[in-house]
Amino acid sequence: SEWSQTWNWIDGNWIEGNAPIMGTRTHAAWLGSSVFDGARAFEGVTPDLDLHCQRLNDSAVALGLNPVMKAGEMMELTQDGLSRFAPDTPVYVKPMYWAEGDGIGTIAGDASSTRFALCLFEAALAPKDAAITLTLSPFRRPTLETMPVNAKAGCLYPNNARAIVEAKSRGFDNAIVLDMLGNVAELTTANVFMVKDGAVHTPAWNGTFLNGITRQRIIKLLRDAGTEVYERTLGYGDFLDADEIFSTGNYNKVVPVKRIEDRELQPGPVAQRARDLYWEFAHG
Ligand code: PMP
Repeated sequence: SEWSQTWNWIDGNWIEGNAPIMGTRTHAAWLGSSVFDGARAFEGVTPDLDLHCQRLNDSAVALGLNPVMKAGEMMELTQDGLSRFAPDTPVYVKPMYWAEGDGIGTIAGDASSTRFALCLFEAALAPKDAAITLTLSPFRRPTLETMPVNAKAGCLYPNNARAIVEAKSRGFDNAIVLDMLGNVAELTTANVFMVKDGAVHTPAWNGTFLNGITRQRIIKLLRDAGTEVYERTLGYGDFLDADEIFSTGNYNKVVPVKRIEDRELQPGPVAQRARDLYWEFAHG
């Protein structure tokens, strides 16, 4: 297939394209032991890159991998790699670890077999006026007892993929995914917020979804700007009844929802304020 411009740092070398890194007996390819993170370079800035690199190392530890790179080293490699792209190219920054080690009983491979790569690829940000449609997914988020939800682990994502594929099969862009108790957790690819009577509400982190770096950043920016933000238990009914809904994630930052099921929503002023605050922060 056709890949956008891609550069990878692997074992001390920069390699262009979709570089092969795994063998047929590699634990990660066979049994799913990989973790990654995703930051973004756009408009000449890479906001919260330090937090994304640190979260990669936390994800590695959660899965039993050995975080062999320091966050600062990953940040330096990122700056080095970005210089291979034209200035201001929007780039997805994906550092990753995986286990090379062998055999199903090793769970995540031998810690000393942990491998690292940094993959950078060109990827446009959603246009400023993008807005999405949402439905309710029939699939749910696992709990910490059933999957390593505290890691940004590759093995979680087939569940997200089937949720988005199912939503698209019914004509929606994305889906709200519930946790095992039936409360709203997140979207398939981003965190989710709602606005009611001027106040912002988002699910409280309960170990079932990714506590997004953009989520945490937006909560702080909105609060610092004087907007009330409540992290609490929310049901799907709360979202059906919301004045505004928006998503947050590193990939497209803040994106408003224009329809939930058959109810039209106006992309509203709070989502716009969240987006503006993020851009101000990013350009600091
Ligand atoms: N939830 C899921 C499932 C995601 O894949 C992402 C994107 N990394 C997010 C939430 C948003 O997290 P962040 O703001 O850290 O990108």
